[in-house]
This record gives sequence, structure tokens and C-alpha cells, in this order.
Amino acid sequence: MFGVNKESLIKLKNIASAIRVNYRGKKLDKKYVIFESDDWGAIRTPSKNALDVYSANKIDLSKSFYKYDSLENSNDFERIFEVLNSVKDVNGYPAKITANTIVANPDFDKIEKYHYKEFFLEPFTESYRNYQSSSSTFEFFKKGINDGFIVPQFHGREHLNITRWLNDLNNKKEKTLLSFHLKSTFSGTGDYSYMEAFDWDSKDEIEFHKMIISDGLKLFKKIFGFSSKSFIPPCYNLDPDLHGFLYDHGIEILQGMRVQLAPTGEFNRYKKIPHYFFEKDISGLLYNIRNVNFEPVFNKDFDWVNKSMKDIEIAFLFGKPAVISTHRINYISSISQKNGEFGLRLLSELLKKIVVKWPDIEFISTPDLLNLD
Ligand SMILES: [Zn+2]
Repeated sequence: MFGVNKESLIKLKNIASAIRVNYRGKKLDKKYVIFESDDWGAIRTPSKNALDVYSANKIDLSKSFYKYDSLENSNDFERIFEVLNSVKDVNGYPAKITANTIVANPDFDKIEKYHYKEFFLEPFTESYRNYQSSSSTFEFFKKGINDGFIVPQFHGREHLNITRWLNDLNNKKEKTLLSFHLKSTFSGTGDYSYMEAFDWDSKDEIEFHKMIISDGLKLFKKIFGFSSKSFIPPCYNLDPDLHGFLYDHGIEILQGMRVQLAPTGEFNRYKKIPHYFFEKDISGLLYNIRNVNFEPVFNKDFDWVNKSMKDIEIAFLFGKPAVISTHRINYISSISQKNGEFGLRLLSELLKKIVVKWPDIEFISTPDLLNLD
């Protein structure tokens, strides 16, 4: 009797899903590895103290992004650059990450002064000064760019649905206010409420979203001195009616998963739009598809390194770049030292295995996809 055990079934399912992500779209001759890392610049949980206050108020963060994630500091940058520099590609370059950056955070004091009626922001470079004792974090960011370890791209102006957040503050929603006074936008529930910046309750909100995107892209250019060529919407949530606007504002690549989540007018209920690698949208946008998931923080018992190696192998088999999703939260040590150490150790293991197995790979950034020969 031919028997299929549970483990073989999971393996088959994984292979089937990897094939689904990779089989369509342009084929490349060379083997490219891209690390796409979201959320740089966003405040999330400001400190260990804030986490203790949540816990004292019986707010459960065990399954939330807010558990370990916090604004990156110079120590986090130093450690991740060291890991990226521990390997070299076929051209002698170190590994690099495409750091999808949130360019601003709420200015909590000013919003409170105006009784939550208006939104005010601070650029993330100011958040470094306001939330951290050291003012040198942005110097480390710039050094990382100059040394080729980090390529910033646009992830949004704020990682925040301003309309919903201000509404709840005005309605004096208890947990939202508690978070506000800790200088965080955490909703107090385990989901990702308020993080979905470009979700809408009413379609006409996309005019407001256009203003935010245009303003955010200008701020990106002002801070970094160059324009972002790609964009990953917060929570993969974007109305296709914004695509043309993005393209007209210099965005050429839309980063994302195999499916884009289009708003329907209801939080957490989205229309799934499938995409494939280098599909060209009617607006001119190209899609880059994440085909490897490397997020060790979400399950410490899972074999992330070997699963990622398998997914990279399948991507190469289909002539696709390995586009590895790995959020900032995996590498942050300020809330939990162990968290950052764990993520960095696994990243180091993965990088070493990649260069041993495929000595001919090239580490590139997402915008480099536009200039391949
Ligand atoms: Zn994000």
C-alpha cells in the first residue's frame, strides 16, 4: 500500500506553493539574491518600559509585531552590517538589504495639543533624536548606504491608518489612548489595526492617500538625497487605483507577495489580486514578487534556514531572483537582546549556506532589477 505521511504532504504542499510563485514571468540568466526588509524608521514599541505597561494593563502582545519591534538604533545597525559583511558574492560584494523605510512618525505632543483633531508628523530622523539618547543613528544608516549594506526604499510616510487612528482617539478608545500616551500607535489588540496605512472605509479616502504618498516620497528624497524607485505598501494593502499615481511619482517597481490585498471598505477583508515576477501593470509598474519567507521571530522552532534554502533553489530553477522577505523586527535588540541575537545568528547561517551552495550568486537591491544586463 502506498502511504503518504503528514510530513511528506507538507513537503509536497510547500513545493507546489513555491512553483505557483515562480513559474510565470521573465526568466533571468544569473542567480540574484535580494533581501527585502520592511519597517525601518517606524517607531512601533518605543521601549521595554512601554511593553511592561501593556503587560500591566493585560494587553497581550504575544502574537503581535509590537512584541519585539522598535525603532532601530546604532547598535542594531552595527551588528547587522557585520553579518552582511561576513560573506561576499561572485563580484566580491557583501550581502545587502533593501531597507523599506517609513519616513515619518506621529508628532504625539502636537497631536495632543490639537486635541486629536489634526495629524502632525516628525521625520524618522527626528524620531531617532526623540526616542533615543544617542543622536548618531542616522549617521550609521548613511554609513550603511555608503558601504553598500543597505539600500533604502519607500514603505510609506507613516505605518499608520491616520483616519481610523484619529477617529478612535477622538472616540476616546481606551487602549488606543493608553498606547498614545506611551508614544506608540499600537491598537491594543493582537491584529495589525492602524498599521494598514492605505486601507480605506470609503473609496474617496484614496485622494488623501495620494497626498500622503506624494508628501512621503518628497520627504524620502529630502532625507536620503535620491528618489525611491520601488514601493511596498504597509501590510501589502493597496488600491490598484493608486498604481498610476505611484508610477507618475517615480515608482517603477511594486514590491509584494504573490497576491496584492486590495481594500474592500472593510478592515481585514481584502480582494486578492495575484501577480507574477516582472508582470507589467497597465500603468507601467513592474511587480517584484517575494518568493522566500525568512521571518525567524514568528516561530523560533521552525527550520527557517533550510526551508529558505529550498525556496531559493526553486526560485533559481525557474530563473527568478530569490526575493527574501525579512522584516526589521527579526534584527532588533533594544526590547529583547535575545530576539536580535537569534535573528542575526540565523541570517548569518543562511548567508553562509547561500554562498557555499551557489558561489556564482550576486547580492542586489530591488531597484537594481531595473539595471540588469
Ligand atoms: Zn510594514
